[in-house]
Amino acid sequence: MSDATPVLPAANRAWHLVRRPEGWPVPEDFALRELPVTAPAEGAVLVRNRYFSVDPYMRGRMNDVKSYVPPFRLDQPMDGGAVGEVVASAADGFAPGDLVLHGLGWREYAEVRAEHAARVDTSLAPLPAYLGVLGMPGLTAYAGLLEVASFQPGDAVFVSGAAGAVGGQVGQIARLKGASRVIGSAGSDEKVRLLTEEYGFDAAFNYKKAPVAEQLAAAAPDGIDIYFDNVGGEHLEAALASLKVHGRVTVCGMIARYNVTEPPSAPRNLDLLIRKRLRMEGMLVADHQALQPRFVAEVSGWIRSGELTYRETVVEGVEHGVDAFLGLLRGENTGKMIVSLESPEG
Ligand code: NDP
Repeated sequence: MSDATPVLPAANRAWHLVRRPEGWPVPEDFALRELPVTAPAEGAVLVRNRYFSVDPYMRGRMNDVKSYVPPFRLDQPMDGGAVGEVVASAADGFAPGDLVLHGLGWREYAEVRAEHAARVDTSLAPLPAYLGVLGMPGLTAYAGLLEVASFQPGDAVFVSGAAGAVGGQVGQIARLKGASRVIGSAGSDEKVRLLTEEYGFDAAFNYKKAPVAEQLAAAAPDGIDIYFDNVGGEHLEAALASLKVHGRVTVCGMIARYNVTEPPSAPRNLDLLIRKRLRMEGMLVADHQALQPRFVAEVSGWIRSGELTYRETVVEGVEHGVDAFLGLLRGENTGKMIVSLESPEG
């Protein structure tokens, strides 16, 4: 606990959801509004957020539906992953200057209960990595491949959304763990090049150029053992067709349907689950927290050795938070999409 009286910032801007999007969100669904900043209550810290995360799952929270996380409330600040620096502490064990990961993003300053703030170790990786490669998306990739899909050396793995935060890591972990073949799909030729030239995928294709089923069959002539699904729809249908007997599917995300108003027609071949005795399992990263220490140790080691590489797309300024989120849905990111609140002077 720090006894020094903190100098509180004059202003704190936070993004609010002001209207529930219908289909694709538009800027008018959001508003950047001022929030008061007060000294932290007993047991809490005041954090100056330095980076916050925008993630595909947040689109679901904009709908008024019951899910595994509560929906965003209208006219209230939105929340989500963020990393920042403690600027005032009324909690034992935290002092100004500490760097923490917490769940009150989408704003400049956050009052965080100590039990919801996790100290981060920037000797392992830079601060924003805790929102991506060493954070929630990284753990999703690690757990979804190794635990949910029961990856075994020699498996041929296909991952969609492969140039994104989760997908890029799935493919690289599969390679490092001895996959026989790693295949990825992404939405631009530049992303496809990144997969084969930097991430070490054996094959990759641009799903916008030709039907996924055709391109996947060409990239995996002997079939696949695992499909890590970030997209759903046509991708899932194609993967079911390419899976071998006893193949496994990790159903991680279905981004192709997050902004549609009509349910997609694909997949139309779920009968293959029976014929090929496939196993398809939905996952939530929150169920896999127990893997966190092993995940951080193993992945930070690969980052240090240069065996695993990652990208971030960093959008500067709180005022561009919604632009970053909308860009993420459109595929403007390569790797983790992050909003930086660092002042120009650092
Ligand atoms: P990404 O970094 O992968 O960003 C989203 C990407 O989705 C975009 O860059 C875009 O890339 C792609 N995309 C958008 N629309 C489509 C479409 N119609 N068809 C195909 N691709 C599309 O995000 P994350 O890595 O954070 O998340 C990836 C997936 O994992 C999401 O579905 C997310 O909901 C899910 N997820 C699930 C978790 C869980 O616990 N179940 C936890 C974390 C994430 P492109 O240019 O290639 O189109």
